[in-house]
Amino acid sequence: MSATIAGCGDAPILRERGQREVFCGLTGIIWLHRKIQDAFFLVVGSRTCAHLIQSAAGVMIFAEPRFATAIIDERDLAGLADANDELDRVVSQLLARRPEIKLLFLVGSCPSEVIKLDLSRAAERLSQTHMPQVRVLNYSGSGIETTFTQGEDACLASLVPIMPKIAAGTAKSLLVVGALAEVVEDQLRRLFEAMGIDKLGFMPPRRSIDLPAVGPGTMLLLAQPFLADTAHALEARGAVRLAAPYPLGAEGTTAWLQAAARAWGVSDARFAAATLPARERAERALAKFRAELGGKRIFFFPDSQLELPLARFAARELGMEILEVGTPYLHRQHMAEELAWLPAGTRLSEGQDVERQLDRCRADRPDLVVCGLGLANPLEAEGISTKWSIELLFTPIQGYNQAADLAELFARPLVRRMKLAV
Ligand code: SF4
Repeated sequence: MSATIAGCGDAPILRERGQREVFCGLTGIIWLHRKIQDAFFLVVGSRTCAHLIQSAAGVMIFAEPRFATAIIDERDLAGLADANDELDRVVSQLLARRPEIKLLFLVGSCPSEVIKLDLSRAAERLSQTHMPQVRVLNYSGSGIETTFTQGEDACLASLVPIMPKIAAGTAKSLLVVGALAEVVEDQLRRLFEAMGIDKLGFMPPRRSIDLPAVGPGTMLLLAQPFLADTAHALEARGAVRLAAPYPLGAEGTTAWLQAAARAWGVSDARFAAATLPARERAERALAKFRAELGGKRIFFFPDSQLELPLARFAARELGMEILEVGTPYLHRQHMAEELAWLPAGTRLSEGQDVERQLDRCRADRPDLVVCGLGLANPLEAEGISTKWSIELLFTPIQGYNQAADLAELFARPLVRRMKLAV
């Protein structure tokens, strides 16, 4: 697929540098702790961090959670030795109580007391104490200048140095990177295997001890569009990224799978045999939503970094009219295929200046707005239907079988408003 044709590949971008309304990277813990089932996330933070995690997790806590917050109260520098001792004590207690934990993440946050703590040294020290039973890593979920999906990027990037090495000359392998719901991962695995691609790993894995190996010969397929640091770290270990759009919708999933198929020299016939039944089912399921959503006008506020692939799906597979696509950051290389697929002339913005974006949104009077939680209530009060972008991270939306579920996420707020109106 060429990224140079039509679309928005070279389109001008509004760059916004104003007030921001986003969750911080700690939020990623909510879906990551469900995915890596032998890991524990210990936030080193303040009461605010503890509240954020609890409220973001909300009703989603189904068992004893695999995350917690070690609250570091205000301390001066002289108190740092105590803070380290306290951290060691909390970690020892936790690991004694939860022997199923094999990987512990110390997750940094932004309060100044925490920034003073050297969590990478703490992780090294704690690893020495608790290895081989438990490995301790650290990353930052800090809210300064980040968006909430960057927490996943930072977490996965912290795993790269401990991934086993692939010896040079080993047959090539496929590494799918980005947290996916298990049901999605299983479907994708079956599709790859049907194409004959069976040297296959997923990152993050379900169990930390199954961390895939990486090295020259690893072909990298990003399943999420917000993993710039992780991709960079994997490339530094010799992996090669396969350029592709993201696996949202029937068309996006096909092109994403095709990127791997091409790299493996899978014949068109075998690719079609492996994918066509699921693709056709997805297209049939989308037809109903196309009838409902076709022509509806949609506006994306910058929040999750999923905005470009979502807009591409909404435009091309649901026939929606895209008013503006805001994204917190635009990684032109990782988004090249998505940009090429957006309708020419789509208004793109990078970064956030919430007041100006709200002005543009109000002037556009969209049928649906995809935005962060903080903007949803005021917009709803003004009569504009909204969809929380964070829901798109908690819901399985990738792959063929989920294409209609993704469309339904867009359709639901509109249906609800129609019902309220009658
Ligand atoms: S890391 Fe910073 S932004 Fe996030 S909850 Fe803690 S204090 Fe707030």
